[in-house]
Amino acid sequence: MTSLPPDDPRQKLTAWLHYYQDLRLGPFYNDRRSVHGAPLGVALGIGSTGVAPAGTTPSNESRIPSPVAQAAPRQKQPATATLPVASAPASSSRKSAPPAAAAVTFPVLQAPSLFHASERIEGDTLERIREDLGDCTRCRLHKTRNKIVYGVGNPKASLLFVGEGPGHDEDIQGIPFVGRAGKLLTQMIEAMGLRRDDVYIANVVKCRPPENRTPEKDEVATCSPFLLRQIDAIGPKVIVCLGNVASQSLLGTNKSISQYRGQWVDYRGTRLMATYHPAYLLRNPAAKSDVWLDLKKVMVELGLPLNRSRRAD
Ligand code: URA
Repeated sequence: MTSLPPDDPRQKLTAWLHYYQDLRLGPFYNDRRSVHGAPLGVALGIGSTGVAPAGTTPSNESRIPSPVAQAAPRQKQPATATLPVASAPASSSRKSAPPAAAAVTFPVLQAPSLFHASERIEGDTLERIREDLGDCTRCRLHKTRNKIVYGVGNPKASLLFVGEGPGHDEDIQGIPFVGRAGKLLTQMIEAMGLRRDDVYIANVVKCRPPENRTPEKDEVATCSPFLLRQIDAIGPKVIVCLGNVASQSLLGTNKSISQYRGQWVDYRGTRLMATYHPAYLLRNPAAKSDVWLDLKKVMVELGLPLNRSRRAD
């Protein structure tokens, strides 16, 4: 019996599609008009001779427009983020950028991220997403983790903090931001006149990377669909990304956070602000004043009184 080689692009694509299906996000990679009764490859516009490169997202052009998308506007905006051009440094790739007052929109995350496939799942809940996550073994991080760190807080919070991934203490307790950096985050939240219970706190990856290393791209790509669903289920007014990994993952940019920190970014119709990670503040306390400026902007956006806030130092 012959079997497809392990690196066969079609086999890989099929595996991805099954994975998306598991996450209830499969339909967004498929053309909904033709997926029923048609092979997945056909639905994706991949014929017997044309095979999409492994690990790439089918381009919009190659997709047959969804009748659902045509019939009704999507509740959420497409997976794009708008970064303020004013914050972008003059670099060779930015030479032809529009005037400073304009904003640039670019796709969120490069292929094969599920951010391309993001569309709200009607009735999705944090409980259901947690169930779907299960005792996850989708990436190598499961091998060394102790506990999955899903997220904590008010399921209908107006304010969502997104960190990078669990550290040692979080891995033991299964709760995000409970170590030293977490204590500082709690102080930051309280300085805003809020309690931890008022907000929601989640991470890009739900399992601790060994030795607290930065999560790999494929680990982020594997785990981020769950974060995306958490964001949609919570429906926060404001998302605060803590540090480079969270900001770069959600915005699909390689730019360093210092280039757009403290500036409002439109993230699929939600206001997003990137600021420094509390762990960075522990190493660079002088940056706390920058973060406090950012958090005050968040407070204004949320209608929180500035005069009742307590500055965390
Ligand atoms: N750092 C993070 O990014 N997340 C945590 O949960 C803890 C530390």
